[in-house]
Amino acid sequence: MNTISIDLGGTRVKLGVVSEGQVVESTKLASNSQKGFAPLAPELEKICKDWQKQYQLEGVGIAFPSLVDADKKQVLGHNNKFADCVGFDFEGWVQNILGLPMVLENDANAAALGEWGYGAAKDTNDFVLMILGTGIGTAAVMDGKLIRGRHYQAGVLLGHMPLQHNGRPCTGCPGIGCAEAQASTWALQHMVEEASLQSPLKQEPVMNFEVLQRYYNAGDRLAREIFDECCDYWSNCLTTLLYAYDPEVVVLSGGVLHWGEELTSRLFRNVSKHAWTPWGKPEFRLAKNPEHSVLLGLHYMNQKKMESGNL
Ligand SMILES: [Zn+2]
Repeated sequence: MNTISIDLGGTRVKLGVVSEGQVVESTKLASNSQKGFAPLAPELEKICKDWQKQYQLEGVGIAFPSLVDADKKQVLGHNNKFADCVGFDFEGWVQNILGLPMVLENDANAAALGEWGYGAAKDTNDFVLMILGTGIGTAAVMDGKLIRGRHYQAGVLLGHMPLQHNGRPCTGCPGIGCAEAQASTWALQHMVEEASLQSPLKQEPVMNFEVLQRYYNAGDRLAREIFDECCDYWSNCLTTLLYAYDPEVVVLSGGVLHWGEELTSRLFRNVSKHAWTPWGKPEFRLAKNPEHSVLLGLHYMNQKKMESGNL
């Protein structure tokens, strides 16, 4: 079975042809998501139509970086990314261009399905996923079912869990002091600026975890303080995921994981020490296909839909 998957990311759109659980073709576009979906649509249409000439396609999957009604295939909210997608008729759009059925899902949920179908969580029916990218994405599979909830908010908003009552305002939700606002790639600049410790790190023009790690490895005190703080917030976030969904496996993904084993083992140690799990310890794993989890997850949804009518 061949399908097209489109991952509408805040900064990049990834799209590809997936064949029997393998990405056989893929490309990336700058998304300019603040300008909305409309300027991007013609380019996407062209790529998809070209692929349809080459492949026998059976479906399309679209992932969106905010809240999504996967049943009605409607976008429910946006964080100033593709604002014109709220209420947009994706099903009609796909039908018009390709004449194919489609699925729509939140991006973190799609990533979880990709790791469940073909990746790090293939052998379990109970796992949570945390993606440390620009923000923090989460998703949960419990008792063999992707958790969506009454309003499609369950599982996907744990990155916006309030952890600091007088913390930073969030750019991704109306909250204050949520995990993402306290410790994430977009919050890093603020963490560095607001810190009382002095460091040449404060003069860096671009701030991300790669830059932070350079200073960290050179022994910079501020970099070390910020890394510790981030690990504490992320561990608290993971502990909440454990309490909420009782998984046996924790899958970690996202660009921040390039930090390496030190980060993963620190999170595991923190959670092992502070989370109350008398049954034992959850297993920590890295995503198997971090680059393509979302594309694969959309393919998995299409595959399941063809097999049984639903997921
Ligand atoms: Zn938030």
